[in-house]
Amino acid sequence: MPLEGMELFGLIGNPVGHSLSSPMHEAAYDELGLDARYLTFEPEPAALSTAISGADALGIRGLNVTIPFKQDVLALESVAADELARRIGAVNTIDLTGEEITGHNTDAIGALRALRDHDVTLEGATAVVVGAGGAGRAIAFGLADAGATVQIANRTESKAHKLADVVPNATGHGLDSVAGLLADADILVNATSVGMETDRSPVSADALHSELAVMDAVYRPLETRLLREAAATGATTVDGAWMLLYQGVEAFELWTGERPPVAVMNEALRSRL
Ligand code: NAP
Repeated sequence: MPLEGMELFGLIGNPVGHSLSSPMHEAAYDELGLDARYLTFEPEPAALSTAISGADALGIRGLNVTIPFKQDVLALESVAADELARRIGAVNTIDLTGEEITGHNTDAIGALRALRDHDVTLEGATAVVVGAGGAGRAIAFGLADAGATVQIANRTESKAHKLADVVPNATGHGLDSVAGLLADADILVNATSVGMETDRSPVSADALHSELAVMDAVYRPLETRLLREAAATGATTVDGAWMLLYQGVEAFELWTGERPPVAVMNEALRSRL
């Protein structure tokens, strides 16, 4: 068990690098006067199962999961993944507070809350999701469950079709279809890594228009080229820190049962980006 009274949470990945989740969660503990810490752990891939069982045995209350373990956790018998995580094919949050170790995916709800927070209507909307990797899968399922029609476009087109086969109300495309799809779309989400640390956009600026709400999953830089070009057309823009914030807010609530201090968590996150 951790030090008496103190609750421990953390992030497992390899490498975990410089985690933004630590300052975000620790700002929330401080705000609510919780005696808790959020640490980072880098187990070897072969030790993933042992690491999670060990964390549970030591009284750690919750873990976020990042690259390369999000998919691997699903395969562990010791973790009961919920239906959404199983459909998405990835676990980003492990709850160790109950009798059973449970796995969840808060990326999907994080993306939806980010959009709703910016007054974007999801039900009945037509959304174009560019990217069919981990983020794209979570966002596509989330949008479909919220009642949107989802057009999934990916560089490797076969992955877009494969994902569209399992997401309700979805169709798969290659990247060359994106400009045409955007003409009738309400929402565009970049779920590729294009634009991360570089001034590139996965979508031609000419295809953007003022009726779109454009969200980028990329959060470094906060204002990606895509968002800059979208804002120039008058489109609503939602940066990647919002999704990151709300996936953390959801995890915090799941683990602590407390109402998350969203503004404090947002400030802690943004001050580090
Ligand atoms: P991933 O599983 O590795 O998927 C990468 C995606 O990007 C794939 O669809 C890939 O297409 C596409 N891609 C990569 N390079 C490309 C290029 N040069 N041109 C076109 N498409 C390209 O990664 P992920 O976990 O989904 O993450 C994607 C991005 O989302 C990252 O920047 C990550 O930081 C961000 N993210 C943000 C949050 C958040 O909370 N804001 C959460 C999760 C992820 P192929 O299939 O053709 O390779």
